[in-house]
Formats: sequence, C-alpha cells, structure tokens
Amino acid sequence: MAPIALTIAGSDSGGGAGIQADLKAMSALGVYGASVITAVTAQNTRAVTAVHGIPVDVITAQIEAVLTDLDVGAIKIGMLATPQIIQCVADSIADFDGPVILDPVMIAKSGDALLAEEASQILRDVLLPRATVLTPNLPEAACLLGSESADGLEQVIAQGQDLCALGAGAVLMKGGHGKGDICHDILISHSGVIAQFQAPRRQTRNTHGTGCTLSASIAAGLAKSLSLTVAVAQAHDYLQGAIAQADALNIGQGHGPVHH
Ligand code: PLP
Repeated sequence: MAPIALTIAGSDSGGGAGIQADLKAMSALGVYGASVITAVTAQNTRAVTAVHGIPVDVITAQIEAVLTDLDVGAIKIGMLATPQIIQCVADSIADFDGPVILDPVMIAKSGDALLAEEASQILRDVLLPRATVLTPNLPEAACLLGSESADGLEQVIAQGQDLCALGAGAVLMKGGHGKGDICHDILISHSGVIAQFQAPRRQTRNTHGTGCTLSASIAAGLAKSLSLTVAVAQAHDYLQGAIAQADALNIGQGHGPVHH
C-alpha cells in the first residue's frame, strides 16, 4: 500500500501553490495525497483577486471523511484564512496521532494576504502546540512571536527556540527571505540546532509555491516513516530541484511556479 499524506490547505486556481502544489509534490515523492480544501483563491502568478473561505462544517466533514477511511501517515496544514477555520481544523484533527507539519501561511508571493490579521495569535495558541514541525519563513516567525524579523543566524536560532517554547515539537526556520548569497534553512528543537541545510540563492522570480512544496514534501517523507531530519533533507533537495527548473517552466507573467 502506498503511504498516504493529507494536505489541509487553500486552492490556488493558478496551480502554483496551495493544494495543487502539495499534491504534485506528494505524487512526485511516491506518496498518495488526499486533500481538504479550507479556502478557494482566485489567483494567478500576479495577484490574488478573491478569497472564499469554505464553511467550517464542510471543512470538518472533509477531514472526517478522509480520516475515518484513509490510513493517513502525516498531515500538512497550509492556508487557513480565518480564526474560525483555524479552530475548526484544530478540533477536527484532535484525535489524529501522527505527525503534523504546520506551514503558517500568511502572505502570497504576490504580496496579498492569505490570513486575516487577527488570526496569527490564534494560530499560535491553538495549532502551533499541535505541530510536530512548524515551517515559518522569517517574516512569519517574527509575526508569530510579535517581534522583528531575525537578522543573522544567531537570532534565527533564538527565534526558532522561542517557537519551540510555545509548543512546536521542532521548527524549520526557512531562510529564503534572509540576506546574502546562501539561503540557510535551520531545523531547531528545544535543545538547539538539529540540522542545517544550505543552498545558493537563485536569481529567479519563479518561486511561487516554494513554501507549500517544502512542507508537503516533509509530510510525504514523514508519511513514509522517515525520521524528521531525513524527511527535511529530502524535502530540501526536492525543492532545490523544483526551483532550479522553474525558469524552464515559465508559467504566467508574475511569480511563476516551481517545476515539480
Ligand atoms: N496557499 C495558497 C492557497 C496560496 O495561494 C499560497 C500562495 O499564493 C500559499 C499557500 C503560499 O505560497 P508559497 O508556497 O509561495 O509561500
């Protein structure tokens, strides 16, 4: 039987991020992907033009339908849009005892908001403690902590540990928004750095879906029962390949998607 991962996230009509990116990544990594849609975005590579949150009873029904029948090995959570949806997802996965990868999606590559402003505190209080691994970029980590974006590796590690102190089992601090020619992704637990992953910064505007792809790939690895460190290492490799080939794909006129 193929390993199964579930993504709980938003739909991107442009196909580059959200549910669509997650299913492509899971499939490429040999994992069967199930999907629960939390919000529908009207979106292309340039902008998000509409967001429709799915009614919470329909989200609950989707999660129940999947978890009562499919043998889900890992859950990835992405865009949640509103406080009500955050609470509904937290309640609906309460009995799930496998790993949960929480990608605290806040802003699309186009700069449009994907999470209501007041919702980040609720995400922190209600879902963050449920995360086996949290995967913030630097602005998202700062927003969850109510602080400035980290500047320098020491501060990045300190913020990762602060997020662990709020209840996450581990935190992958993604360095793509940092400065410098090398991007550092740092996997951190309460006791410090577990592993570091480095990649040269690539000069491309086609990075739509990078965060989704990384967290979905980690979910795929954990669904295959890999250790967290190996799952993150494989996800990092997969994403590097997808970014390297993004310009060849060349979709749309804005921030085009990475290539699965
Ligand atoms: N989820 C949805 C539905 C989105 O539309 C987006 C971005 O547009 C994201 C998540 C986050 O995308 P990224 O992986 O580029 O951070």
